[in-house]
Amino acid sequence: MIQLRGIKKIYRAPDGGIVEALSGIDLDIGDGEIFGIIGLSGAGKSTLLRTINRLEEPSGGQVSIDGQEITALDAGGLRLARRKIGMIFQHFNLLASRTVAGNVAFPLELEGWKPKDVKDRVAEMLDVVELSDKAGSYPSQLSGGQKQRVAIARALANRPHVLLSDEATSALDPRTTKSILSLLAGINRLMGLTIVVVTHEMNVIREICSRVAIIESGRIVEQGTVKDIFLNP
Ligand code: ADP
Ligand code: ADP
Repeated sequence: MIQLRGIKKIYRAPDGGIVEALSGIDLDIGDGEIFGIIGLSGAGKSTLLRTINRLEEPSGGQVSIDGQEITALDAGGLRLARRKIGMIFQHFNLLASRTVAGNVAFPLELEGWKPKDVKDRVAEMLDVVELSDKAGSYPSQLSGGQKQRVAIARALANRPHVLLSDEATSALDPRTTKSILSLLAGINRLMGLTIVVVTHEMNVIREICSRVAIIESGRIVEQGTVKDIFLNP
């Protein structure tokens, strides 16, 4: 369970100006849900998502995951807590100098897994994303959809409870988008993982989310099941 209470974020520009990106967000996301956050560009979606793992420090409010207050952790505690939170991005953020297998192995190596365990887990994850035949390829040799599959394998390699997805399909064509979304839906069923999806695309929400929140200018203006919000007259 992910709980956000009174999340605020204020950015200070170098010229002294102030942007209030989030103005008091309350949100409850249940275990195993695929929860969507939708809104226009600049609404605060990415900032909101990034406060969940404190890639952005909120200016106020609390984030808890499974009862642990993420916003109260010191640097060491946060490092441990982040192992439970995977993340994927619009532009994949793969390491260009590492192979596909090397990218998936990377977080496990950082955590000090034994080489044999790394190898087994990398093979297992490449199987899940159907890229076993690309283990030795470099990111530059892959299509966008394949790159996102590598990023998904890397994000899930150390068995997180939560996956944060920041516009993960926005750089992909419609057919590839569909295949990535069905991969995520399958992983959600298979692993019981909670997924939080940020997007400006309605079809993404319709395709995989159970519940959705609409964000406008840093505030949630509506939330509920996808059926209630988008399919009723
Ligand atoms: P979205 O993901 O919905 O497009 P963002 O969370 O990226 O929205 O941005 C919300 C608001 O915060 C926007 O007005 C944006 O310009 C501003 N913002 C985002 N990041 C920064 C930053 N690092 N410094 C200053 N302002 C920022
Ligand atoms: P890089 O050169 O990009 O760092 P490596 O080839 O050294 O990549 O691989 C990094 C790690 O990934 C290896 O230590 C190994 O555990 C794992 N690995 C490499 N190739 C495979 C493979 N074909 N199947 C499974 N795991 C692999």
